[in-house]
Amino acid sequence: MTTSGCAVRTGRFAPSPTGPLHSGSLVAALASWLDARAQGGRWLVRVEDGDTERCLPGLGKAILEQLAACALVSDEPPVWQTQRLPAYGVAFDRLVAAGLAYPCGCSRAEIDAALAQQGASHTRHGERVYPGTCRDGLRGKTARAWRFATARFEEAQGTGGTAWTDRRLGPQWQDVSHDVGDFVLRRADGPWAYQLRVVVDDAEQHITDVVRGEDLTDNTARQVLLQLALGLPTPRYLHTPLVLGDDGEKLSKQRGAASFDTSTPQAALAELDKAAGVLGLPQAKHATSPADALTTWIPQWTALYNPPP
Ligand code: GLU
Repeated sequence: MTTSGCAVRTGRFAPSPTGPLHSGSLVAALASWLDARAQGGRWLVRVEDGDTERCLPGLGKAILEQLAACALVSDEPPVWQTQRLPAYGVAFDRLVAAGLAYPCGCSRAEIDAALAQQGASHTRHGERVYPGTCRDGLRGKTARAWRFATARFEEAQGTGGTAWTDRRLGPQWQDVSHDVGDFVLRRADGPWAYQLRVVVDDAEQHITDVVRGEDLTDNTARQVLLQLALGLPTPRYLHTPLVLGDDGEKLSKQRGAASFDTSTPQAALAELDKAAGVLGLPQAKHATSPADALTTWIPQWTALYNPPP
């Protein structure tokens, strides 16, 4: 299945309530809203609180308030991932039934030892590339995490890698089995992994256009593989420029990036102006409110990111 040309265009913003939104997250929120509106489409908010261990209580609501202060309001009641846990289980069961998910009994130390034995110091973004130890059975170990059988699936696809196109960054390609390996679908401590949740929810919400920060680009090939494995449509993707802090590093909730100022409509407008600048949009000089500014940027977004063919 592919995205149907006549479907209502639908975008989404999917914050994790692990910290308040910062100016970097506002860029992604604004871009996804403008993209949906520029196509006459819907814009939805999904609170990605599915990883209960890492989410902070009350933050989901606070994030929705930050967005509302910027006139960014979901067209439907926001979806909360904690209310969708059974759906992830259904998708997971389908992968297991298709022989595309398997239990893994390896601890981190065992993965490190197996990698060292292979002479591979194979880490990527600080993460280990799983050496495939439990791919053909647990051999008496106890199941901990569950993994996607990337190598098996990519081999069956016979394409030698996963290609997809980013609307800003252009054609992309990744050999997921080599670069990432058999990635986790369900963590050893219980929660469904981000990759599975995001794919199931994007399909369930009929998302046609994923617009999100460039730091997530690297996840896309994995998500495209899961969509293929589950027979789900692949949306279009656009990854937005990142906002760097004074130290030159990208702003991130994990590193405690500050929330942005929404104490008054003028403050929210100034924050939106900054976010628009990151996207290459001009300042909304004559706008009197956040809502007003958003409207002025819609045609400018079209010209930059969605020009007529
Ligand atoms: N929840 C993810 C985050 O806050 C974003 C997921 C996505 O847009 O795909 O980083």
